[in-house]
This record gives sequence, C-alpha cells and structure tokens, in this order.
Amino acid sequence: MRFCSLSSCSYANSVVIQDNHTCILVDCGLRKRDIKPFLNHVGMTVKDIDAVLVTHCHIDHTYGLNYILAEKEVPIYSTSGVLKELNINYQFKRVPKLLTLQMEQLEFIDTLQVTPFKLSHDVQTVGFLISDGNESLGYLTDTGYVPEQCLEAFQSVNYLYIESNHDVVMYQNSSKPYYVKRRNLGPNGHLSNNQCSQALVDLRLAQCSLVTLAHLSEEDNEPELALRTAKANLMKDIQLVAAPPRKPGEWSNVTLKKR
Ligand SMILES: [Zn+2]
Ligand SMILES: [Zn+2]
Repeated sequence: MRFCSLSSCSYANSVVIQDNHTCILVDCGLRKRDIKPFLNHVGMTVKDIDAVLVTHCHIDHTYGLNYILAEKEVPIYSTSGVLKELNINYQFKRVPKLLTLQMEQLEFIDTLQVTPFKLSHDVQTVGFLISDGNESLGYLTDTGYVPEQCLEAFQSVNYLYIESNHDVVMYQNSSKPYYVKRRNLGPNGHLSNNQCSQALVDLRLAQCSLVTLAHLSEEDNEPELALRTAKANLMKDIQLVAAPPRKPGEWSNVTLKKR
C-alpha cells in the first residue's frame, strides 16, 4: 500500500491511500478549485476514488465532500457519532451514502481493512488503522493527546501519519484569543510538536519505515522545528517527512525509494 497527502494544515486536509485494488480518501477539506489539480498532480482523478473516510466534521476535513460526490457517488465511512455530527454540520447537496464503522472494529472497504479509534478533540473524532492485509498505516490527527487504545493498536504499523500541530511557545506567543489558545492547547485540541515526539517514543514503532508529520499550523509551527523535535525521538532507520500545507506531498513509495 502507499499514501500521499493532498494538503495538510489547519486550512485543508486530505490523504489518498491505495493498494492495487482500492483507493480511499481520508477526509476531503480541499476547495473545489484544488480537488482535480491536486489529484491529477499525484496521478489520480475523482473517478479513481472508491470511498471517503471522515475523521470528524470540522470544515478543514470536509469542505470538498460535495465536489467529490458531484463527480462520483462514493460512500462516506465513519463511526455513527462522527456521521451524526457530519450530517448536522455539513450541508450535503444530495443525500450521501453514509456507512457506519464500529469503534475499534475492523471493516473491509473492498480490499482495504479499516479500524477506527476514538480520539480526543472538541467534536467526535476518530483516527484510523488502515491495512491492505500486508502493511498498515496509522492515521492520527486532530487530538489533544494520543489515547491508550491508539498507542496499543499502532505499535506495529509500517507507516505513521501523525499530527505535529504547533510549537507550544509559538502558540502561546501568538495573538489568538485566550479561549482559542485554551482549546487548542488543551486535551481536546491538537498534538504539539513535543506531544507528537513523545508519542513516537510511546509507540515504539518497531516495524515502521516512514513517519509523516501532519496538520502543521502555518502560523504557530515551522516544518524544520517539527521535524527536528520528532527526529530527536525517532530511530535513525525510520524516514521522516512533513506533509506540505495547501499542496500535494509525494507518494510514500517515492519518499522511501530516496533512502
Ligand atoms: Zn483539522
Ligand atoms: Zn479538527
């Protein structure tokens, strides 16, 4: 299996994951104008997508759903709690096919196996363990901390896509209102660089070949700082990259070939 971020930041998040038979998007926070060019840039079209997994209802993860659905009626998967909030908060232009995943239970989406895990954010949010039966990817963004169940389940992933949202000092010094700071730095907010780095230790990652840092704040983080903080706690033989904001990154198999 391989994966590629189409955009990763507080503005728009979306990742393509595929094996030889199945192609899914995790989230689609892209603007209409970006969907086709970004997919084309990584060699894909909307027609290639078989399903969309949604982590939570925030607009940076859902904005483009209507544009995907206008091109192709793909099913949208998540847990019942996430789908309920999605239905309330997102204006679907046509009735979508919503399919429910059970928390911590494996479900097949064609050839890909998907298991959701509860995260800690200010709305219902899940991370995903995604496997092609051979390799697996841990997907973990938009959470104030890494819950124990995730730490256990992601120990043996081959790839980790993990949030490294902000540098705490940069965030505290920002001009954001107090209530925003309290929310985002709290247990229902986002993982800081230091929390991400600690998670890399806690996860051990004995089988992992690639860690992608994701959802970096464009205002309160620097890619070099996030990478340096993560690298300090990462085994040398694990490749480390940061997913770029507002544009596609490269496919995981391309990154791994560069070693
Ligand atoms: Zn987000
Ligand atoms: Zn969010």
